[in-house]
Amino acid sequence: CGIFGIFNVEHAQKYAFYGIYALQHRGQESVGIAVSDLADIKLIKRSGLVLEAISKEDIESLEGSIAIAHVRYSTAGDLGLTNAQPFLKETPFGKVALVHNGNLVNYTSLKAELEKEGVSFEHTSDSELFLALLGRGTYVPESISMNPLDEELLPHIFYALSRVKGAYSLIYLFKDKLIAARDPYGFRPLLMGRLKDAVLFASESCAFDILGAQFFREVKPGEVVVVDFHGIRSYFPFKSPRKAMCIFEFVYFSKPESYIFGDWVYNVRKSMGRQLAIEDDVDADVVVPVPDSGIVPAIGYSQEKSIPLELGLIRNHYVGRSFIEPTQELRDVKVLMKFNANRPVLEGKRVVVIDDSLVRGTTSKKIVSMLRKAGAKEVHMRIASPPVIGPCYYGIDTPTREELIACKLNQEDIRKFIGADSLRYLSLEGLRSCVKNYQEFCDACFSNVYPIPLEDESCLSKT
Ligand code: 5GP
Ligand code: SF4
Ligand code: MG
Repeated sequence: CGIFGIFNVEHAQKYAFYGIYALQHRGQESVGIAVSDLADIKLIKRSGLVLEAISKEDIESLEGSIAIAHVRYSTAGDLGLTNAQPFLKETPFGKVALVHNGNLVNYTSLKAELEKEGVSFEHTSDSELFLALLGRGTYVPESISMNPLDEELLPHIFYALSRVKGAYSLIYLFKDKLIAARDPYGFRPLLMGRLKDAVLFASESCAFDILGAQFFREVKPGEVVVVDFHGIRSYFPFKSPRKAMCIFEFVYFSKPESYIFGDWVYNVRKSMGRQLAIEDDVDADVVVPVPDSGIVPAIGYSQEKSIPLELGLIRNHYVGRSFIEPTQELRDVKVLMKFNANRPVLEGKRVVVIDDSLVRGTTSKKIVSMLRKAGAKEVHMRIASPPVIGPCYYGIDTPTREELIACKLNQEDIRKFIGADSLRYLSLEGLRSCVKNYQEFCDACFSNVYPIPLEDESCLSKT
């Protein structure tokens, strides 16, 4: 998911609209905006893409100076608006809205415990816990010296955060303030920006660019930031056992022009392609990226190997949600709708084709046969990340183990399945060498080393 927040600007809802539009790649299922005019909080939620789902009337119906917004990731069987965010709830502190990116690993047990105490839930998403827990207890670690301005509310926020386990980058909207927080592991990104007198929060820096705002700093793992008319105050109520920033944000999820986790996504992603080339001994005539996600690593690979990069696959950008029945035959049509081979750069060539990741193997299989039909003499599939061998418990929608091809087949059998002349992945060590301090990253879906164990399989609800 993608989250955005802005404090202290006229027509905050318009900024929220453009800010969340810039994060559309982080979720296509639904979009929502909540706005405070200092007296009340109003909310709209729509399913679909930001530009299509939110109307001019929607924007005009929301008027205020503080706003938060959310785009939700699409997951099978969970369509529609049931779990669209922001969530809005009447609490002992008045109306509060919330946006959350991440996934909690103790959702089921904590929800059951609260239900026993008489709390009722409107949604089936872990994110609701952050609101349900407000007013149910206080927590202030001894080490913290609290600003008198925060003495009433913050102990309740700290309590809510102390009860949940897992990944969260979130923003609470109160009538007169924003409170942003990132879990102590720092799984998901969250940044702060400035635009004149306004303070902004966003999942990625590309949301600041579209508004002409300046990146200011990242919200740190374990940090709680309060922004109100008295200023900005920061707290670290929880010790970080370790950091575990999501390396998959660099592999695939974030936009290439974004800055997150102290690095430029473009640079890290390109070095994954370079490292893949360093580990590779294949001879080829042309490097072809699978657009769009393979383009940046393919540039790195091509430059490292001094093999020319050509657009041998062209992507149709107008492929939306498919109306097609999900039979295998018709799923093939969907890939054919999405990509077409570009014969002049392929005919008679030894082709290295680069994608960012291989999950189920369906994309690679179609692409290999498409390249062969267009005349490629040899097709060498290269993946700029290691085999995906485990699901994500921390907010990325990877399929279950049963659907992950690398859990079922060895590398030679995967090569046969996709029909390539050769197949090679970036090594785990190679991937780790592309980030500044790999001990501070989560790479569980590639390594099976999970920073926080899942407390209940049914916690695999995606946000
Ligand atoms: P496969 O076809 O092997 O299941 O998936 C690999 C392709 O899916 C790659 O092109 C990769 O860019 C893309 N991909 C990787 N992770 C995700 C994800 O979380 N969501 C979506 N929609 N695509 C992904
Ligand atoms: Fe990211 Fe993979 Fe860790 Fe999930 S398991 S947080 S996708 S690195
Ligand atoms: Mg892709």
